[in-house]
Amino acid sequence: MRLSKYFIPTLKEIPSDALIPSHQLMLRAGMIRSLGAGVYSFLPLGYRIIKKVMDVIRDEMDAIGGQEFHLPALNPLELWEETGRAKDFGDTMFHLKNRPLVLAPTHEEVICQIAKNHIKSYRALPQIWYQIQMKFRNEPRPRSGVIRGRQFFMKDSYTLDATWEGLDKGYELHAEAYKKIFTRAGLKYFIVGASSGAMGGSASQEFMIESESGEDTCAVCDHCGYAANLEVATSNIPKAQREKESKEIQEIHTPNVGTIDELKEFLKVDERFLAKSLVYMQDKTPVLILMMGNDQLNETKLRAVLGADVRPCRQDELLMLTGADAGSIGPIGLQGFKIIVDKRLKGGNNLISGANKNDYHLGDIDLQRDVKVDGYYDLRIINAHEPCSKCNSPLRIVNAIELGHIFKLGTKYADAMHAYYLDEDGKEKPIIMGSYGIGVERMMACFIEQNHDKHGIIWNKALTPFHVHLVMVNSNNEKVVSVAENLYTKLQQSLIDVLFDDRDDVSPGFKFKDADLLGIPLQIIVGEKNVIHGNVEMKDRRTSKREIVELGKVVSFVEKYLES
Ligand code: ATP
Ligand code: MG
Repeated sequence: MRLSKYFIPTLKEIPSDALIPSHQLMLRAGMIRSLGAGVYSFLPLGYRIIKKVMDVIRDEMDAIGGQEFHLPALNPLELWEETGRAKDFGDTMFHLKNRPLVLAPTHEEVICQIAKNHIKSYRALPQIWYQIQMKFRNEPRPRSGVIRGRQFFMKDSYTLDATWEGLDKGYELHAEAYKKIFTRAGLKYFIVGASSGAMGGSASQEFMIESESGEDTCAVCDHCGYAANLEVATSNIPKAQREKESKEIQEIHTPNVGTIDELKEFLKVDERFLAKSLVYMQDKTPVLILMMGNDQLNETKLRAVLGADVRPCRQDELLMLTGADAGSIGPIGLQGFKIIVDKRLKGGNNLISGANKNDYHLGDIDLQRDVKVDGYYDLRIINAHEPCSKCNSPLRIVNAIELGHIFKLGTKYADAMHAYYLDEDGKEKPIIMGSYGIGVERMMACFIEQNHDKHGIIWNKALTPFHVHLVMVNSNNEKVVSVAENLYTKLQQSLIDVLFDDRDDVSPGFKFKDADLLGIPLQIIVGEKNVIHGNVEMKDRRTSKREIVELGKVVSFVEKYLES
C-alpha cells in the first residue's frame, strides 16, 4: 500500500477528549474516529488490525472445534422476555421504537432457540458454536475509547452439552483457547475467579490485564499467582478471637457517636470487638448484616447469598423497623429480622453493637449466646496487604480491564426456553450451556495500552497492520526513488505486506515520526547515504536497533524476521 494514496488521517496533537494512551494513539494513528458517545468508525488502518485480531481468535476457536455462525443483531423482544433478561438488562439493552425488537447485547437466547428447535437427541451433542459479530449495549458511561463502546465486536461462543462433565470439558477447552489467543496476540494477562452476574450460572473466570484505567478491581498475589475479581476475592485476614469469658450484656451511653471510628475512639477498644450493623431488604424481609469494625460489605457477595433483588433499607424504613437511626442499630431485640453475619465474626463474644436506641450501644454481646444467627458468610471486601488465602503473602489490589470472560451457565436458558434433548434412556433433559466472550476492539486497545512508548504504538507480528514499513527518505533523489520502488515491488512479490511511504510532499523527519507513530515492527529506511553503497537501513521499532543490510538481501532478511 502506498502511503501517498492511503486514507490515513494522522494527527500531530493529542486529542483533548482522549484520556488514555490507547484512545489517543488510535485517533492519532488514523485508525478510528468517533461518531458519537461510544460509537466509532474504523478507518482502513484500524480495520486491518481488527481483522488481524479476529484472525487470531478465529484460528483458535476453529482449533477447538468451534463452528462459526452469523446471528442477527436484531432480536424479537419476545425472545428476551422468555428468559426474563429483557428486565435484567433494563436500560442497557437498546429497544427499537417502531417494532418490538431489541439490539442484542449478547446471544444466549438466539443460540438456545436454535438448539431447542434442532437438537433433539444426546447424539447431536456436544456442540461448540461461535460468531464474531456486533453487540450493542447502552453503556451508561462510554469512555476509554473503544474499550467501552455502545457498539462493539464480540467473539461469543457457546457450548451445548448433555452432561456436566461435558460442560467442564467445553469450559476447559475455552480456557486453553483463550490462553493461546491472548499469548499469540502478545497480551500480558492474568486470570481471575469472577462473579457470574446477570449471566447466571456457576463457575466463571475473567481474563484481565492490569491497567490504571481499568474499571474492574482485582486482588492479586505476586507470590503464588492467586488472582480474583474484588467482587469475589477472599483473604486470610484474622478472625474474631473468642475470649475465655463471656461477660453480661450491658448498655453503654454513646452520645453523638455514629461511625465505627468514633465508637472506637470513644470506647478505646480494638476494632475487632465492634460489630457494625447494616440493614437490607430481601423482598419484604429485613435482613440485618453484621460486619467486623470498618469492614466494608461486598454487595456482589451479598447478592450471591440473598438473591439479586436485595436492596439497602431506606432511612425511614430503618427507623420504623428498629426504632433507631443507622449508627445505633444492632442484633439484639429485633422482631421479624433475618440475621446474617460475616464469617470473620464467627465465634465472637464481648462484642459491641448498636442498641436499637439512638445514642446507645450494647456491650459484651456473645453471638452464640445472644443472637439467633441465620448464617455466617464471607461478605466483606478485602483490602490491600491482607494475607493471600492460598499462601499468606500480602495481596495487591489493582485496576484491571477485562479482555474475556468464560461462564458455566448450566441449564438456566434451557429451563427458561424449554430446550430439551432426549437422553440415552429416552428421557427429556435440559441442554447444559456455557458462554464465552472476548471483546475484539478491547483486545486491540489493551494491546496498545501495553505496547507503546512516547513516539507511538509498537505492534507485534501477530497484529501489525503491515509486515514492514518502507520509508523512502529523499523523494527528490532518483537513485533513492528507484531503489525504493524496486524494493516495494520485490517485497510484494514475496507476499510481504508493505506500507510504502512514497510521499513527496513531506519531510524525512515527518516520515520517521509517522513510522514510529503507526508502529509497524520493522522499518526499512531507504536513504541517500546507504543507497550509494548498495545498502538500506533496517530499524526495529521496539528496540530502535538499526542494522545495515545489502539491497540483495533485504527480502530474505524480512522473511527471516517474520519467521523468527
Ligand atoms: P464489563 O464488565 O467490562 O462491562 P462485561 O462483563 O459486561 O464487561 P461480557 O458480557 O462478559 O462483558 O462480554 C464479553 C467481553 O466483551 C468482555 O470481556 C469484553 O472484552 C467485551 N465487552 C463487554 N462490554 C464491552 C463494551 N461496552 N465495549 C467493548 N467491549 C466490551
Ligand atoms: Mg458490561
